[in-house]
Amino acid sequence: MLIKNDQDMIKNYLEDTSVMPGAKAEAVIIAESQDEIPQILKEASKNHTPITISSGKTGTTGGCIPLKGKILSVEKLNKIININKKNLTATVECGVVLEDLQKALAKENLVYLPDPTESTCLLGGTLATNASGSRTFKYGPTRNHVKRIKVVLSTGEILDIERGKIFAEGRRFETIKCDLPSYEMPMIKNAAGYYVYDNMDLIDLFIGSEGTLGVIVEMDLKIAVKPEKIFGGIVYFNNPKDCLNFVKEVRQISLESKKSGDITKLSAASIEYLDQYTLDLIREKNPSIPKDAKAAIFFEQESTETVEDDLLQQWSDLIEKHGADLDQCRIALTELEDKELKEIRHSIPETINEIFKRTGFQKLATDIAVPADAFDEMMAYYDEILKPLSIHHLAFGHIGNYHLHVNQLPKNNEEKELALKNIKLFVTKAVQLGGTISAEHGIGKIKKPYLKIMYGENGIKEMAAVKKALDPALILNLDNIFEEKYLR
Ligand SMILES: Cc1cc2nc3c(=O)[nH]c(=O)nc-3n(C[C@H](O)[C@H](O)[C@H](O)COP(=O)(O)OP(=O)(O)OC[C@H]3O[C@@H](n4cnc5c(N)ncnc54)[C@H](O)[C@@H]3O)c2cc1C
Repeated sequence: MLIKNDQDMIKNYLEDTSVMPGAKAEAVIIAESQDEIPQILKEASKNHTPITISSGKTGTTGGCIPLKGKILSVEKLNKIININKKNLTATVECGVVLEDLQKALAKENLVYLPDPTESTCLLGGTLATNASGSRTFKYGPTRNHVKRIKVVLSTGEILDIERGKIFAEGRRFETIKCDLPSYEMPMIKNAAGYYVYDNMDLIDLFIGSEGTLGVIVEMDLKIAVKPEKIFGGIVYFNNPKDCLNFVKEVRQISLESKKSGDITKLSAASIEYLDQYTLDLIREKNPSIPKDAKAAIFFEQESTETVEDDLLQQWSDLIEKHGADLDQCRIALTELEDKELKEIRHSIPETINEIFKRTGFQKLATDIAVPADAFDEMMAYYDEILKPLSIHHLAFGHIGNYHLHVNQLPKNNEEKELALKNIKLFVTKAVQLGGTISAEHGIGKIKKPYLKIMYGENGIKEMAAVKKALDPALILNLDNIFEEKYLR
């Protein structure tokens, strides 16, 4: 292992994209092999040294940012151990960069389907946050693609957990002597707090637990044969209502096609929303965006040589039916063109992250999803709160899952305070509507106050009890998900 004590070297490990202040660490331990992790954790447990796990540092909630103790970096655990074409499984270490796995798979005409927009993240980080992204509409979040994990607990114990092998009895895991929280999660895309359900699979407790229960060092991931073709497009609307109606119809048809398995029918892989202010933000870099566009949808569709023309016709018909001008749409028919469109989509969070970094304000973005029948009300609420205010704001994201990121970009402290108040209003409304305060980024350190709104004080205490059972020395990723005071 490598140990860095020099604060100049540590500096690089003190940030992710949240712009969270207060980062501090004594040292960075860079593990060079999986075998070193149990000893590192045993030693830290013995000395009660807090350990914060650092991966790709692309998270948005301060999860990998330490407030004290030492950092454990897994960046060198980056072996792609095996790609099994026959049973479509990739076995990888946690520090493999998502993009590197995709490149290795592409050589074999294979693909790992989760696509959390930022390809420089490491796979362990994506499991720890249960990352999602645009294709989650069709394929579900990371959790759905994980077959096995190897986790090191802070005691040094190694758990090798295969999906489908270890189940809770109701809300208790006898094997690890641990009672699970009693709250019910909303039945929508959700990454808020520990993932629990009756008789649950143990693997699901660790996925999305944000490094608070153990270090995921290795995993078996489901992979797939690359679709023969994929096309994408950006559709611009002059009226946001037309855009939302378009989304509803695309969703409905896509869900029906997925159910029937009929590949000749329109079935979106991604349905992504860009509001007027998001289009304004990226117009300079993308001058082809029409000046009068008030909303846009980015979509992707898998296809084959034989059905492509028919599918394109179905998309064109829908686009025209909902009042968008086909001539203004940008359609990508090749993989390269689709990549260009995705770069436009990726430039949105990137540009916003740059602004937050430049202004020094902690990221003020929501990660809210609500049930389908509550989405119109949630959208109306965003307008009701934000429209009368002069604070710069924009909304974009995974509308296929009724999941948007509303970002507020304050110019001064007064606007920052206002933005924080607005976020509290939004998460409260979302919870009232049966939604989640975090659909994909997790809670990390900056969203903790909102989790109480969702699961109540009791839910937080029950999560803390799970952590106490699995991390008895209380050293791993302190202050992620819930405040440390709940552990005392
Ligand atoms: C431009 C941009 C766009 C993004 N778009 C999306 C998106 O569409 N969808 C989405 O879901 N996310 C998105 N993200 C967020 C981010 O990419 C994900 O949260 C990613 O999964 C984090 O991976 P990481 O390796 O960077 O982890 P880090 O940020 O280093 O860590 C994230 C958390 O996981 C813990 N952790 C990391 N590795 C392990 C491990 N091996 N074992 C246990 N705990 C661990 C850390 O301690 C921390 O709490 C975006 C980020 C950027 C910058």
